[in-house]
Amino acid sequence: MKYYNLKNHQEKVDFKTATIKGQGKNKGLFFPESIPLFDVEFISKLHQYSNEEIAYRCMKDFVGNEIPVEILKEIIRETVNFEIPLKKINESIYILELFHGPTLAFKDIGARFMSRCLSYFLKDQDKKVTVLVATSGDTGGAVANGFYNLPGINVVILYPKNRVSPVQEKQLTALGKNIFALEVNGSFDDCQNLVKQAFSNQEINDSLLLTSANSINVARWLPQQIYYLLALKQWQQNEIESPVICVPSGNFGNICAGLLAHFRGLPAEHFIAACNANDIIPEYLKTQVLQPQKSVATLSNAMDVGDPSNFIRIMELFGHKFDALKNKISGYSVDDQKTMHTITEVFKKFGYILEPHSAVAFSSLEQYLDQHPNKKGFILGTAHPVKFPEAVEKATQIKIGLPESLNDLMKKEKKTVEINSDFEELRRFLLHKI
Ligand SMILES: *Cc1c(COP(=O)(O)O)cnc(C)c1O
Repeated sequence: MKYYNLKNHQEKVDFKTATIKGQGKNKGLFFPESIPLFDVEFISKLHQYSNEEIAYRCMKDFVGNEIPVEILKEIIRETVNFEIPLKKINESIYILELFHGPTLAFKDIGARFMSRCLSYFLKDQDKKVTVLVATSGDTGGAVANGFYNLPGINVVILYPKNRVSPVQEKQLTALGKNIFALEVNGSFDDCQNLVKQAFSNQEINDSLLLTSANSINVARWLPQQIYYLLALKQWQQNEIESPVICVPSGNFGNICAGLLAHFRGLPAEHFIAACNANDIIPEYLKTQVLQPQKSVATLSNAMDVGDPSNFIRIMELFGHKFDALKNKISGYSVDDQKTMHTITEVFKKFGYILEPHSAVAFSSLEQYLDQHPNKKGFILGTAHPVKFPEAVEKATQIKIGLPESLNDLMKKEKKTVEINSDFEELRRFLLHKI
């Protein structure tokens, strides 16, 4: 499979190059040159296949022969080695729980796949590779965990001091070994700016092989298709009609992977882009005007994105035809008050505990189903409630316990280096401390 740069269709690269480079010239995103279709027989009988087999069939055309089959199968085994159950919340709404991975976030799947591909592609390098990322919470944990202990790779994570939840912080800072956490006196935007400066600094690039684990990387984006198939496998055991699929969205990578799977033949009645107050795409679907905004802070902070970078891939999928896109996707914007109200109500009525991102999705799907009463669907549960304890405990009035898998982690010591939002401090760390 070749991938072309959406900003310059002449630039074509293979999967390996797309994975290592992350993006093309002028920061263009890579996009697969063809959309390989699923076998119809396969899609209609998913329950006959193991999760690993489904995941392998989903990914193999995108990787081609750039990773040997046995190694790709091993990578996939390690990518989907936790349960991804589809649970019924009420008569018409199910939730795909994507938060049983090592960092309790759906990003584990993309991060695990990408880290292992990168590790394979870089295995013969003499220089150690340094993965540099800024995080507002979830990405860093998933990336740290995905790369933990992989030979030949160091990971440096910048996060804003006092602005990530206690569980998130432990996931970033307690691993040690090849994972280095920098606690920045500043905001997430400051962290991101420092990272950008490092990538464009000659001295640093001369002495380190720097790479990013950005969510636009094809090796993080494409494996997200897998769990739409795993959802459908379970859906087919319970329901006859195709599902409405509702995705809590920020950078739009997740929903874009679902749409790609749909173009390949995954049945879906409709897609819903569930957003918080950052409503650029719901507004676009109303007005056909794409107007990036400065992001505003909300309870569902992993979706606080004012200029969703993957949306361009969705446009490409639909051949830039607005009407086709609008027929398949609806957008909703749910504010914090409604998010809290949804968590409270769903717990009261159905005994199910949502966290803020999934609550935005629940409310969106509920609004859609009010207008389309004969349909049913599922939401993607993108994070475990324990990662957002303040909002969840306030809305439900119950204390949520830590899952057992976190006990050991929470006992570990936090190890960080504190820096100011000052490039010189980052430069010194990168050149002399790792
Ligand atoms: C990253 C994230 C999202 C948004 O996913 P995108 O692919 O950026 O749209 C939603 N929920 C949670 C919990 C996340 O961490």
